[in-house]
Amino acid sequence: MRFVSTRGAAPEVGFVEAMLGGLAPDGGLYSPTTWPLFSQEEIADFASQSYATVAARILGAFADGVIAPAALASICDQAYATFLHPATAPLRQLAPGTQLLELFHGPSLAFKDVAMQLLARLYEHVLAASGRTLTIVCATSGDTGGAAVEAFRGRANIRIVALFPEGRISEVQRRFMTTARDSNVRVLAVAGDFDACQAILKTLFRDETFTNDVSLSAVNSINFVRIAAQCVYYFTAAVALGAPGREVSFVVPTGNFGDAFAGWAAKRMGLPIAQIFAATNRNDILARALKTGVYKRGAVRPTQSPAMDIQVASNFERLYFEASGRDGGGTRRAFEGFDQGGALTIPPKVLATMCDTLSGLRADEADTSQAMALAWRDGRGLVDPHTAVALAASGKLELPGTTPLVVLSTAHPAKFPEAVLAATGAVAPEPPIVGRLALEPERIDRIAADASAVKAYVRKFVAA
Ligand SMILES: *Cc1c(COP(=O)(O)O)cnc(C)c1O
Repeated sequence: MRFVSTRGAAPEVGFVEAMLGGLAPDGGLYSPTTWPLFSQEEIADFASQSYATVAARILGAFADGVIAPAALASICDQAYATFLHPATAPLRQLAPGTQLLELFHGPSLAFKDVAMQLLARLYEHVLAASGRTLTIVCATSGDTGGAAVEAFRGRANIRIVALFPEGRISEVQRRFMTTARDSNVRVLAVAGDFDACQAILKTLFRDETFTNDVSLSAVNSINFVRIAAQCVYYFTAAVALGAPGREVSFVVPTGNFGDAFAGWAAKRMGLPIAQIFAATNRNDILARALKTGVYKRGAVRPTQSPAMDIQVASNFERLYFEASGRDGGGTRRAFEGFDQGGALTIPPKVLATMCDTLSGLRADEADTSQAMALAWRDGRGLVDPHTAVALAASGKLELPGTTPLVVLSTAHPAKFPEAVLAATGAVAPEPPIVGRLALEPERIDRIAADASAVKAYVRKFVAA
């Protein structure tokens, strides 16, 4: 399968280039030239397959033989063997008709592991074949860094530098990155917010000399393979609830829009999804955009769901591209305008196409705390604050009773013990890994929110 840039001004590339390159050279995001379509029979057959097998089928449709099917199957098996739950992404009933999809059983206790465990193994596989070495720089609002460090540490031919906004992530999130002792890992605390970290990353990628000198690569949710990997649990959850014979709706706690866009892609690939609700915290650029048609950056305000403290939802560009009928020129004008002026107006037809499937919801801090408290009080268990944003938002929905609703649960409550304790008075049981990390020494370098400082740092790491 070939991939095009959402901005229409970069050459088409294959699966491996789309995976390793991250952003396209014209500043756009890679998107497949056509979406694979699964038949009703194929989807029905997923119900009897393991999670890893479904993953291999779906990734195989994008990799299209570029990764040998047997190698891909074994990579998927290994990636999902790291999960602590045998079902990988189990459903848990919350109420009649409402299920929680637990995506946090991976090594760093967050849903980012689902894609990252697969991506790291795919990287290692293709790099071993080509003899290349890469440097990954990733910006994290909390969970990406931990999942990426956990997935890439110790892997051959790859270095990883994780940037995080100092003071804006939880201690457990930080320790998943800073306690790695592997020599291919560096962790940078940036004096700025997550959008500043993301802006540094974009600047690095725009500098062609730097990109080539250090063989730069990105594993942020702009990486298409992460989207493909995240489509998988929409399929496994939906077939467990009766798809393809029945429609299913999803509520997705949303930041950079990678997760919710994967749901949109799953629908495009033939899965009968009725509605996808993208739930944001008070950093609600997406909820506002879908409601008003104006996608406009605001100031980031810290919340108890820090992985969603984002005012630029990178993957929204993918949705815009698709909803505009894959109009690369139009997408380029819209997003170059947004990059410069911080706002864009979605043409009414494009917005209508988006809203066929997607709606934006918002939960503020009080709603989020209340959702955690209610779930605990009613015996539905402890949920983390990101999941609580989705729960709070879904509480406001009035849905026809027959379509099952799946609420994506994106982090283990023990990853955010302070917020959980404050809302519920309860202490989340700690998986053993959290206790072990608390005892390990941390390694952190501090840096200004300045792209040239980060470039110099990465150059030095690569030269060492
Ligand atoms: C990253 C993350 C999200 C947001 O996912 P996006 O793909 O960025 O929308 C939600 N919850 C948790 C716990 C996360 O780590």
